[in-house]
Amino acid sequence: MDLHLKGRLVLSREADLPDLGDFLAEANGTVLAKGAPAGLGAVVSDHSVEGSEIGLTIDSHEFVRAHDALLRLKNAFVKRYGREQKVGVRGIAIDEYDVTFDIPREPLHEVTLPFVESLTFNGLSSTIHLVDVDEEFLQGNYIDRMISRVREKIEDQYYEGKGEYWKLMWASPSKAVKWDRDPTDAMVEEGWLKQGPTKGKWFLRPKAAAVLRAMERIAVQEILEPLEYQEVIESHFVSFDIWLRTGHLTGSPNELYYAFEPATRDPAAWERFKDIVKITKKVPEDELVGLLKPSMAGLCYAQCPVVYWSFQNQTIADPSLPVRLFERAANSSRYESGGRHGIERVDEFHRIEVVFIGYQEHLLGIREELLGKYRRVFNDILDLEWRMAWVTPFYMQQAGQVGIDDEERMVKGTIDFEAYLPYRGDRETSEWLEFQNLTILGDKFTSAFNVKGQKGELWSGCTGIGLERWTAAFLSQHTIDPENWPDGFRRYLPELPKGYDLL
Ligand code: ATP
Ligand code: ZN
Ligand code: MG
Repeated sequence: MDLHLKGRLVLSREADLPDLGDFLAEANGTVLAKGAPAGLGAVVSDHSVEGSEIGLTIDSHEFVRAHDALLRLKNAFVKRYGREQKVGVRGIAIDEYDVTFDIPREPLHEVTLPFVESLTFNGLSSTIHLVDVDEEFLQGNYIDRMISRVREKIEDQYYEGKGEYWKLMWASPSKAVKWDRDPTDAMVEEGWLKQGPTKGKWFLRPKAAAVLRAMERIAVQEILEPLEYQEVIESHFVSFDIWLRTGHLTGSPNELYYAFEPATRDPAAWERFKDIVKITKKVPEDELVGLLKPSMAGLCYAQCPVVYWSFQNQTIADPSLPVRLFERAANSSRYESGGRHGIERVDEFHRIEVVFIGYQEHLLGIREELLGKYRRVFNDILDLEWRMAWVTPFYMQQAGQVGIDDEERMVKGTIDFEAYLPYRGDRETSEWLEFQNLTILGDKFTSAFNVKGQKGELWSGCTGIGLERWTAAFLSQHTIDPENWPDGFRRYLPELPKGYDLL
C-alpha cells in the first residue's frame, strides 16, 4: 500500500521555527520510522510555512499510515517547539490523501464508492483519492473498509450473471399430474382468498386459512414436537443494530420493510395533520414524513436474527446444548416488488423458523434428524413431487461467507427444497418452487452475537418452513378439491370450514 498525503499543522500562532528542516529530517529517521521495517516508514518529502500553518507532504506505506505520521509529527512538534517558542498545535488538516493498494483482479466495469473524490484503476492497483479528510474518518477506520469494499465490489462483478449454484442431492419419483392450474387463481375464483390490503398481501378466508393452519400443525406435530424443539416468541420489529450484525442491511436493504416511530405523541403536534385528513380525506404525505422519526428498525425479514440476538454475549450451559428452538409468531415482510406472484411470492408471509445451536459435532446430526422428518412429511403426508439441491457456491466460502468445507462433505451451506408446480410447465424446463430451506451457518451468527458454549465456539443453523409455500406446492399438485387430497393430509384437515357466501 502506498499513501500520499498533503496536510497541515495548524499552529496557535505565527512563530519563528529555527531548524524546522532539520527537525523534520530527524523525524523521518526516528518518530516516523518507528514500528516499520527499515526504509519503509513514513517520510516528509516536502514542507512549507505559511503564516501560522506548516504545510506537509508525507509519503508512506501500510506500516506507518501517513495520517498517523501526521499525528506523530504533531506530538513531536509540541515537544520540540512548544515550550521553547510558546507555540501549540491547534489541529491538523488533511487536504488531499491518496491511498494506492493492490487488487486481486482488474474490474470488469466501473466501480463507484462514496466519500471519494475519485477512484482510479491501473492494472492490478487502485487509488482512492480523498480531499478534506476529517478526523472521524481516520479514527473510524473507514479507509481500510473502503479498500475491502473496492476489492469486494470487483469480486462481485465476476460472479454477477453467473447464475445460481445448484447441485441436485435427491429427487422423489414423479407423480401423476392432477391439474395444471395456478392454485392462487383458483382460490380467488372460489372466494378462498382476497388480494390486499396493500401490495403483496392476502386476506385468507376460512378455507385457505384452514389449509395454512393444517400445514402449521403438520410442521409442529410431525417435526418440531417429536424432535423436542421449544417455542419462543419474538417481536416483529428488528433494530438496525441486529441487522448490522447479521449483514441484512448490506445484503438485502432493498427488500426490507422499515418502521417509523412518531416524532412525538403530543396531540398538538398532530393537529394540522388531523385537520388536513378530515378536510381532504387523504393522507398528506409530506406532512406525515415531518411527523416521523428517522427509521431505527424494520419489520421481521426472517425470524432467526432476533433469536440469535436473544443469546447475545451469553454462554449456553453444556447440558442445554444443542439448543433447539422455533418461532412462528412474527410474520416475515419482504419488499418483493416485481417478483410477487400468487401466494408463493408475497410481501408478508407466515413462516416457522427453526433455529439450532450447538457444537460443530452436533450440527450434522441435527440436519439428518430434520431431513428424516421432512422426508416423511413431504413423501407420506403431503405426497409431493419434490427434490433437494445443494445451493451454496464454492466461492461463497472464499469470500468468507457461508460455504462448503469441501465439495463432498457439504457441511456449511444451504439445502433448498423444491416442488414441481405443474401450472408452470413441464418438469424439465419450468422453474420449481423453493418451498423451504435448511442451512448450517457455521459460526457466522454465533460469533456475530458472541454466543459461546462452555467448551468454546458454537455453530448454528436454521430452517425456514414457509407455510404459504408449502400450501402453494401442495395445492398446485393436489388441486383445491379436498377429494383429491392425500389421506395423510386429510388426517390433519378432515373437513374444510364451510366459509360464507358473498352475493
Ligand atoms: P427466494 O429465492 O424464493 O426469494 P429466499 O432465498 O429469499 O427465497 P429465504 O430467505 O431463504 O428465501 O427464506 C426461507 C423460506 O422463506 C423460503 O424457503 C420460503 O419458504 C420462504 N419465503 C421466502 N420469501 C418468500 C416470499 N416472498 N413469499 C413467501 N414465502 C417466502
Ligand atoms: Zn434463518
Ligand atoms: Mg428472496
